[in-house]
Amino acid sequence: MKTGLITSNSYQNHNTGSGHPEKIDRVTVIINNFNKLNNKNLIWKKPSKFKRELLENTHNRDYINFIEKSFPEKGLSFLDGDTIISPGSKEATVDAVGSIIAAIDGVQNKEFHNAFCAVRPPGHHAEKNKAMGFCIYNNVAVGTQYLLDKYKLNKVAIVDFDVHHGNGTQDIFYDNEKVLYISTHQYPFYPGTGGDDERGKYNNIFNVPLPAGTTSEKYLSAYEFVLKKLKEFKPEFILFSAGFDAHENDPLAQFQLKSKDFYELTKRTLSLAKSCCNGKIVSVLEGGYDLNALKESVDYHVKSLLE
Ligand SMILES: [Zn+2]
Repeated sequence: MKTGLITSNSYQNHNTGSGHPEKIDRVTVIINNFNKLNNKNLIWKKPSKFKRELLENTHNRDYINFIEKSFPEKGLSFLDGDTIISPGSKEATVDAVGSIIAAIDGVQNKEFHNAFCAVRPPGHHAEKNKAMGFCIYNNVAVGTQYLLDKYKLNKVAIVDFDVHHGNGTQDIFYDNEKVLYISTHQYPFYPGTGGDDERGKYNNIFNVPLPAGTTSEKYLSAYEFVLKKLKEFKPEFILFSAGFDAHENDPLAQFQLKSKDFYELTKRTLSLAKSCCNGKIVSVLEGGYDLNALKESVDYHVKSLLE
């Protein structure tokens, strides 16, 4: 299989201040690793440029205006207690969205079979009109809306395996029956949402809350529910909100997954995707804060996409 790898140097300039877990090195370790592997089936690509309307289909116009005016000329600014931006964040936030657009177009145009976007800032906590939890624009949500609008798809599934609940993605698609959102996450935990009673207006949301301490075995067994719901929904395209902070070494959460579990869950999803949507999957980086665990886990995830 050919896998697209979409990334940009602009993420190097999204400075969140010293000691912040969502740091520049997160993308650097991933990119250095892929450079070293030099796999011929990995197709490197830059983010696409896009029109502002594309953001307006997902976020409120006032919110976008507010964000565009928020980037400081020097130093750092706070969008919320832990969402910090610097002058270079302006280009990085746009490129993070442009990456998922490039990835989707590449899959639709058969340039590659599936794709991984190594981006920052992450997106799944960003709501229609609110930045939070290191997230500014909801990259995966903008990509989903793009599939519905540009490619006229009627069924898009988002699988969010980040250890935190994607409150932003749930907020954006709560009343959209064309979108299935399934999330596995530590619960109760940040951001507070993600109970299994939050089901969306059309029963299009499925939350799989799991306790702190969840092991590989318990996680993969819970993941069978995700596969079952995907199979019932028969999506035309699958997007991953790919957070790797469920790893046992992650400093921000208390799951006990090993790096190779990300290979396993990707393989199971890909096998299902082959039967329902020709294997069309685009994966976007969300969390993952232990640099070595992140590098290894992404490596396993992409290895599976390449098979
Ligand atoms: Zn997370």
